[in-house]
Amino acid sequence: MNINGLTRTIGLIGNPVEHTLSPVIHNNISKRMDIDSVYVPFRVEADGLDKAINGAYELNILGLNVTVPHKNAVKEFLVDIDGAARDIGAVNTLVRDESKHGYKGYNTDYMGLERQIKEDGIELSGRTVAILGAGGAAKAVTYMCIKNGASKIYILNRTIDKARQIAEDMYGLLNNDTSLYNSFCDSSKETDKDNMLIKDIVVDRISSKEYIIPISLNDNNVITEDNLIAFQATSIGLSPNIDKVVIEDKEFYKKIAVGVDLIYNPATTKFMKLVNENGGKAYNALKMLLYQGVAAYELWHKISVPQEIIEEVYLELKRSVYPKDNIVLIGFMGSGKSTVGKALAERASMNFIDSDEYIENKAGMSIADIFEKMGEDEFRRIETETLIELRDNLSNTVLATGGGMPLRRENAILLKEIGRVFYLTAANRVIYDRVKEDTKRPLLFCDDPYSKICDLMKERRPLYEKACDVKVDTNSNDLEEVLAAIS
Ligand code: NAP
Repeated sequence: MNINGLTRTIGLIGNPVEHTLSPVIHNNISKRMDIDSVYVPFRVEADGLDKAINGAYELNILGLNVTVPHKNAVKEFLVDIDGAARDIGAVNTLVRDESKHGYKGYNTDYMGLERQIKEDGIELSGRTVAILGAGGAAKAVTYMCIKNGASKIYILNRTIDKARQIAEDMYGLLNNDTSLYNSFCDSSKETDKDNMLIKDIVVDRISSKEYIIPISLNDNNVITEDNLIAFQATSIGLSPNIDKVVIEDKEFYKKIAVGVDLIYNPATTKFMKLVNENGGKAYNALKMLLYQGVAAYELWHKISVPQEIIEEVYLELKRSVYPKDNIVLIGFMGSGKSTVGKALAERASMNFIDSDEYIENKAGMSIADIFEKMGEDEFRRIETETLIELRDNLSNTVLATGGGMPLRRENAILLKEIGRVFYLTAANRVIYDRVKEDTKRPLLFCDDPYSKICDLMKERRPLYEKACDVKVDTNSNDLEEVLAAIS
């Protein structure tokens, strides 16, 4: 990162901010898009909020995220507010507005969740929704469900008055000319059965107040519908209290077709496990966090972040939230992955896996036979399936990979999810000297193996470099030197 006089500052205000993941999102987008911008968290006390915002403007700060406890209080220090943020009553993003000499507030939390559910193929239109919780997040979820055409919404909370308050707030918005009312009318679709507009059905329910139904968590059995879309928006189940969930009753989970837990740590919460065990499909909301950040970044820099960059940033986010203690070695044949991997595993008391051997054991035949009998496509499928299995199960392991493994983008992403990736490099001539007597390298069965190595390396080197975290030079053939560079 090269900070200079033109570098634009963006950041976060909240308290506490020490464990925020937002720098991972924003600084990675800037790095990958070559945008001269740096993201910094600032701890701001409640009684200093106005001074912090005025000071930020005077310091030419381009934009800020806002987190607890300032998401509501910040509204009074803004020069403008987006319609959805006004409706939800919470602001998590400030965008500099030179013409008004201050910041405009947005709520990108709900935009992030909306983008996640679209990407996960969850269609809310015409569906009955159950929202667990009635805090700030639950309010944004309720808003997003109405906006996207849900036909009925239950809000279940320990403190029922808070659920009632959200329902009242939303009825108020739906009975007035608000941003929510307008977008709700726009998004209304026909139902399959009788060609009725969902809006017409819902308008009836709104007038009789049977559209948003607040209930106590203990009364969840009053929900008679099944095929529910459920959102878990309480703070229960968050790591380290991973065995907790606000509703234990299996009958409730049998009614859920799709469950989204706003908690993303652990990756699979108890709520998600119960949804899965009872036949539903469950998601956590790490993508919501990603996309609220992407939406803020796009507002600040007035750009659209390409999908490929979003995927790379998501990978870095996952690596920060779910860190793995594995080591992955990649590189061309003869780069020393097996030798180095075994020595490293022994020295560090880690397990060792050679991915080619692992695949051969799993398939019950050699890789050459898999190629011959099943074809290359099938081999690539097995390779990717194996990496998914290893990603979900490996710990404290050194994984040496086949030379072609990281060449596919999908595999390169999985390898980084498995652990820290080291690329063992060596000059073409050094590789040739190491493998020239080896008779088990089908790729080199040709008249001029050295030229073949040069051609393959030209193609593969940039892909290895992209797939790794660290490059390790093995030209010296000095094992100790290589091990020192990795540990
Ligand atoms: P909040 O305003 O503090 O609300 C907390 C909610 O949890 C309330 O409904 C509260 O019920 C309920 N709750 C707390 N302790 C409970 C208990 N012992 N038993 C039953 N219910 C309990 O928090 P929030 O901002 O809405 O956040 C809720 C969750 O969403 C948090 O875990 C947060 O990390 C997550 N979140 C995720 C994202 C994301 O990007 N993925 C974004 C925002 C929030 P009462 O009203 O009865 O106290």
